[in-house]
Amino acid sequence: MIRSQNVLIKVACLFSLFSLSAYAHQYSPFAQFQMPSTMIAKIQFTNYKLGMWKLNKLHLDVAGVDIKNKSADVVINQAELSKLENLGFNVSVTMSTSLMRAPDSQYKNPDKIEHILQDFHSRYPDLTQLKVVGKSLQGRSIWAIKISEQAIAHNPAKPAVLFNGMHHAREVMGPEVALDIIETLLTNYGKDSKITHWVNSSEIWVLPMFNVDGNNIVWTNDNMWRKNARENYGVDINRNYPYAWGSCNGSSGNKSAQDYRGASAGSEPETQVMMNFVKEIRPVFDISYHSYSELVIYPMGCSGVHTQNADVVEKIGKEMGSQLGYTAGTAWETLYSVDGGDIDWMYAEYQVIPYVIEVNSRNEGFQPNFSKRKPTVELNRKAWQLILERLDGSGIHGSVSSNNKVVSDFNVKVQKKNGESYSDYMSYRGNADGTYNLILNPGDYRLTITGPTIETSVQETSVNQSRAQVNFEL
Ligand SMILES: [Zn+2]
Repeated sequence: MIRSQNVLIKVACLFSLFSLSAYAHQYSPFAQFQMPSTMIAKIQFTNYKLGMWKLNKLHLDVAGVDIKNKSADVVINQAELSKLENLGFNVSVTMSTSLMRAPDSQYKNPDKIEHILQDFHSRYPDLTQLKVVGKSLQGRSIWAIKISEQAIAHNPAKPAVLFNGMHHAREVMGPEVALDIIETLLTNYGKDSKITHWVNSSEIWVLPMFNVDGNNIVWTNDNMWRKNARENYGVDINRNYPYAWGSCNGSSGNKSAQDYRGASAGSEPETQVMMNFVKEIRPVFDISYHSYSELVIYPMGCSGVHTQNADVVEKIGKEMGSQLGYTAGTAWETLYSVDGGDIDWMYAEYQVIPYVIEVNSRNEGFQPNFSKRKPTVELNRKAWQLILERLDGSGIHGSVSSNNKVVSDFNVKVQKKNGESYSDYMSYRGNADGTYNLILNPGDYRLTITGPTIETSVQETSVNQSRAQVNFEL
């Protein structure tokens, strides 16, 4: 089964070298689809929050929501439709199996992503670094590209950011947004002063297609496939991260569920690839692109929980939301509780400021006509550019050294001045290259550096609208 899929993709790609339409016609992959009898149905709520709470308990496949019109779309079978009706949900079928079809052939498969990244690298060799960050369960390469002046070398003075697409295989617009980030940065470098500055002063990592195995299934077997390729059921990679895994009914322990969390925390190779990558590059910000629902989601995922520095995390999330015209909030405020998600793990483990952006509305769905790409990626430039702009905004960065050697294991305890006294604000893990990068609101702060190999050291500083630098030379 898997082998035949690989052969199909290779042959299909051979054809795509000559003509994309040849691919579409010769290999209409959907002829061999063995679709279960599924449909997309719309559930209309009278009370959105209460309705979503009830729906979440069923662990159905929630495709997306329309918060303004208080509705949710679910991908269900006949038995699930009957169950929903029996439970009193106001449900109407909007698309049946016969209408489901392959994505527009201009969307990307894993091979196309690789070719496109190779092409960018050959056109901009000094500004880019290509990297296979790891292998998927089925052995496919997961690619990322770094965009920075003199990209081949790591420069500890430059803060890193990460933009990644496609934790969920069927969400084909995510990689398009990621590819547009790459193209916009590279083609405007040296022409647009802001973009030139961002590329010169930061290390911008873009990982367009994370769930490569799942995406292969989307093109060859089932265009509504969401999870990875674990046996015949799949694991929802974005419920598999080890922080608070399976802790708040924000995932399912049932293999057939679309939000199946996996056999154990961090069990999936893809999850481990992302964890190792984040550990290595230590991004200040992350955006994970998903579709659809027009949302900006920030941590934490479990009901009632906010980030400790919500004054920063939620403020920036709301600014992106208002720029995009999307609703901003935690998952439990906007959708339902989520556990084992990437943004919670990144935040808890390394204090990354991470967001999920759900691009597109229910009018577009998971796989709109490719003509929807242009307005989607153009709109979304506002959010990732806001993040790059914010790197220069209020905050503190610096380095920690001892006897002129980099200190690789340290924590930064931050206290904020309220009136005449300092109160605890947040604790951050330092980077292995001896640097730290904190995004803070303006104010007076006290930083305490601690670590197993160093004497505790304290400095105080004021933060205004731009980045302050505080180095610790011990
Ligand atoms: Zn998703």
